[in-house]
Amino acid sequence: INSKLPTVGTTIFTVMSKLAADHQAINLSQGFPDYGTDEKLIAAINQAMKDGFNQYAPMAGYLPLREQIAEKIENFYNAKYDPETEITITAGGTQAIFTAINTFITAGDEVIIFEPAYDCYAPTIKLLGGLVKPFELQAPDYKVDWEMVKKLFSANTKMIIINSPHNPTGSILRKEDIDALIKLTKDTDILIISDEVYEHIIFDGEQHQSVALYAELAERSFIVASFGKLLHTTGWKMGYCLAPAKLMAEFRKIHQFNVFSVNTPMQVGIANYLKSSNIYLEIPVFFQQKRDFFQQLLKETKFDLLPCKGSYFQCVSYSNIIDEKDTEFAKKLVTDFGVAAIPVSAFYTKNIDHKILRFCFAKENSTLEKAVEKLTKL
Ligand code: GLN
Repeated sequence: INSKLPTVGTTIFTVMSKLAADHQAINLSQGFPDYGTDEKLIAAINQAMKDGFNQYAPMAGYLPLREQIAEKIENFYNAKYDPETEITITAGGTQAIFTAINTFITAGDEVIIFEPAYDCYAPTIKLLGGLVKPFELQAPDYKVDWEMVKKLFSANTKMIIINSPHNPTGSILRKEDIDALIKLTKDTDILIISDEVYEHIIFDGEQHQSVALYAELAERSFIVASFGKLLHTTGWKMGYCLAPAKLMAEFRKIHQFNVFSVNTPMQVGIANYLKSSNIYLEIPVFFQQKRDFFQQLLKETKFDLLPCKGSYFQCVSYSNIIDEKDTEFAKKLVTDFGVAAIPVSAFYTKNIDHKILRFCFAKENSTLEKAVEKLTKL
């Protein structure tokens, strides 16, 4: 058989989480919390099942949930998205990204991504015969040099995928970045996917620069968001996509034959929960405390910390500890030291290894303490 993705292996998140489990290591690799969610949210989901919400939801999602999302987007970003035609509930952020790429990319189309980049973008583009045009961001702050990005443009440039707060680096895009992107793509019909799944996990008083804030960009953009990150429930696989009606109509043509619709009681429960929750305001404070706590602990290790402005990931450089490939070093950390991290080389399409690891700090403080205690033995 001819593989459609001959160079693609198993995603690093699955590889590292399995390795961690096999060796009973503390798992700071794949991004997920190790603590529970709000009991009230669980009660709301249970109630939805008891109330009989157990059959198919509408294809685009349970309308009251889409209405809640529209209200949030208006409150936070002063933008109007019509719940009927411009918001679709998805089975997590990854499914939304997959569908959004599938909506328009065909053979020969070029897509610009910023590397290190979340690992689902490139394979999805390649699956469609698209060409990945990576722009390499540079440590420590991973700022985008937009003049250099411009050099990647060609007549075949169809799409640009941006991601802020950024996975894996924890960097963020600021207003000047979005302004530069607007300037670069003005008078083109280049589409944007804006992966904003960490939108509420942003620190130091920085404001998340959602594409929704910028009407002239939003009219060409799919915005992807995640309830897993907001509600500490990554395993529920709940997310959503926003786009202008014309783009969303195309998105739904694919969505309906992929998942059809997302599970109903989760949608009903989340919609009811969000009506009376302060979660949007609590989340940035909660995670900033985690970040500060983890960074403080890591000062006791030999790692050099990279800045983290958002997301729940902390990157560290180990180049002053050992000269070893990051994949090898990450394995050794699991087998010999009992801690799992993600080797950042997994986020490049080229063979690039800057000797950087990514740790997830969405963990109990006690988990972070135990992990760092092990890491101080390095
Ligand atoms: N987004 C998560 C991370 O970056 C992983 C999601 C997944 O495993 N597919 O760790």
